[in-house]
Amino acid sequence: MTFDDLGLGPKTLKAVSESGYTVPTPIQAGAIPKVLQGQDVLGIAQTGTGKTASFTLPMIEILSQGRAKARMPRSMIIEPTRELAAQVAENFEKYAKYHKLSMALLIGGVSFGDQDKKLMQGVDVLIATPGRLLDQFDRGKILMSGVQLLVIDEADRMLDMGFMPDIERIFKITPFTRQTLFFSATMPPEIKRIVDTFLHNPAKVEVARPESTAKTVSQFLLSLPSNDPKTKRNALRQIMSQEKLKNAILFCNRKRDVDVVAKSLKKHKISAEPIHGDLAQSIRTATLASFKDGKIKILVASDVAARGLDIPDVSHVLNYDVPFHAEDYVHRIGRTGRAGRTGTAITLSTPIDHKALAAIETMLKKPIPKYFLQGQTVTKKSEKPKREVSQTKPTQKPRREPSRNQKPETNEKDNGTGFDGNMPDFFKK
Ligand code: AMP
Repeated sequence: MTFDDLGLGPKTLKAVSESGYTVPTPIQAGAIPKVLQGQDVLGIAQTGTGKTASFTLPMIEILSQGRAKARMPRSMIIEPTRELAAQVAENFEKYAKYHKLSMALLIGGVSFGDQDKKLMQGVDVLIATPGRLLDQFDRGKILMSGVQLLVIDEADRMLDMGFMPDIERIFKITPFTRQTLFFSATMPPEIKRIVDTFLHNPAKVEVARPESTAKTVSQFLLSLPSNDPKTKRNALRQIMSQEKLKNAILFCNRKRDVDVVAKSLKKHKISAEPIHGDLAQSIRTATLASFKDGKIKILVASDVAARGLDIPDVSHVLNYDVPFHAEDYVHRIGRTGRAGRTGTAITLSTPIDHKALAAIETMLKKPIPKYFLQGQTVTKKSEKPKREVSQTKPTQKPRREPSRNQKPETNEKDNGTGFDGNMPDFFKK
């Protein structure tokens, strides 16, 4: 199948071809013709499947007929985070470059004055986060009666973030006759209820099983004996010195830890920056751009901030914490091994992660292979301590063991993980 077979017009096809795409992804092949036929669509797909183009391309086609009126957007795309909204806006601009369509972006951190001016002139598409959108609706700045097309993206993430009441309200205030495109990586009962209530006989396009993890990602688990933060940070740095990291996204469960870990890495002269919801939008945007450009090697992130970000070619995902929700594990490790490349995901676990880890391994239907630090001493019950150096990852070339004579670069004491603070030059800023 080619893009020509999907029913898209020549201007859209030209923009697609200039994006370098030749073959539609399964979600695109499944969803685009249904959207063009005017059907509601329920897309069960994760990020990385090409789902953004699966709704933006046919929307552009549909919107190319007709004109926008003041304060009455003709279509809306709702995204859970500002980054995702901005990313979809970028995609929209790229694919609609041969059309005269106007767009506004309603997210925190972007000056509302400019966007309000656009809304006043009339927009074909409004891309927004739910809270901002409803806020402006309640102030009378937006009228919903012209919305023909509504896209709800990353619905399961919206559920996790507590946005479902907002989404339900958005459904209620937009015309019953609208066409709805609804995307979610998973279908928990609450999402199913929303779909059953607000979508009209949707075409279901499912492209990846929620519990499947990319086959191109090698997964490893490093079990630590305690939850002591220093031990964890030391272990983390040793992983970084053992692994051939090109770059990595490092996930923490809490925003506070995102900051602490990023600071600690920087102190050890590792190029790292934090990204989470409490940082100003301008900082988040700049950090992301620097990471994409390779100026920052380690992006230390919370789940929410990193969700859905399109960052190709990440060599490693490091889970500083075992995620609370098993689904987040899939999303996190899906940040590497994209587009057929291979990637490595290494998760640190401590005794308190016992339950969360069990849930992940049940979901994966197999235990995550063990990761060993070079020189790590492993004691099994009723066994004498034994060197496990031979059990480092088989794909790894033997690496020089950290010299115990070298001093750590900080005053953090040696805590038995064998890390000596030595970093490969590559990671130094
Ligand atoms: P998404 O799932 O929408 O975040 O898309 C993931 C990545 O796939 C993005 O970098 C897109 O630019 C890219 N992409 C989308 N559609 C195609 C396609 N048909 N062929 C190749 N790459 C694509």
